[in-house]
Amino acid sequence: MTNLVEIENLQVKFNTDSGEVNAVNGISFNIKKGETLALVGESGSGKSVTARGIIRLLAENAIISDQTSIKFNGTNINSYSEKEYQNIRGKNISMIFQEPMSSLNPIYTIENQISEVLKIHGKFSDKELKEKCLELLKQVQIPEPESRLSQYPHQLSGGQRQRIMIAIAIANNPDLLIADEPTTALDVTTQKEILKIFNDLKKYKDITMALISHDIAVISEVSESILVMNEGKIVEKGDCKKVLSSPNHEYTKHLLSCIPEWMK
Ligand code: ADP
Ligand code: MG
Repeated sequence: MTNLVEIENLQVKFNTDSGEVNAVNGISFNIKKGETLALVGESGSGKSVTARGIIRLLAENAIISDQTSIKFNGTNINSYSEKEYQNIRGKNISMIFQEPMSSLNPIYTIENQISEVLKIHGKFSDKELKEKCLELLKQVQIPEPESRLSQYPHQLSGGQRQRIMIAIAIANNPDLLIADEPTTALDVTTQKEILKIFNDLKKYKDITMALISHDIAVISEVSESILVMNEGKIVEKGDCKKVLSSPNHEYTKHLLSCIPEWMK
């Protein structure tokens, strides 16, 4: 399998009032085409910074080392301008965050918000836009998709909003979908439904994913590979099933020991 993403020596620091803070300390990893790579680790271990580093969606006080190399589809994207990154974001790589409400605009309808993303990267008539929106809503298995088009975010439940976020994220058929704790804010039943959508996306759309979660049960449902992070470093990586069933590193064993029994 070829690699869609190749990251070498990712180093991210933050400038803060009390000096520089190292967040990610020179990590290297690849994401193969078609696979789902899980990033796990305690809170603060550098998962989100790593994910955002891939598409340069970092806070203003972030500094990425010039020793860092990020290749996407074989092309080094380090030297891309902000404009070139914008083109890649949403079209080739898209991202889903934990809190769907903060990413949706409260004053626009669902149809408007999905159409907006479609229009950035393609030309469609109004009729085509509506059809595409509906098709996307069906793909994310939202109940009564037709009536959702004219609704606003506050009229939807948390799980339904997260489905809208997924619809927006996959609207332009990205090669890579990065999901940062996409199910953390949801109840267990909704979590399972969202995971099913991810599994369907892999099966029918051949999408490559980076899935961040501190929830090992969630990870094991969708991921082929895993990367365990601690204090901005990778402590263990490899085949997801193997690492989870026989972890080599003490930190991974510790993480696994924290899963409640009912989740196993
Ligand atoms: P997580 O694994 O929980 O996603 P993060 O990647 O968000 O962890 O954070 C990694 C480290 O970087 C943490 O120590 C965090 O406090 C720090 N960090 C993240 N964003 C900023 C920022 N904008 N300014 C300063 N420090 C930050
Ligand atoms: Mg995080």
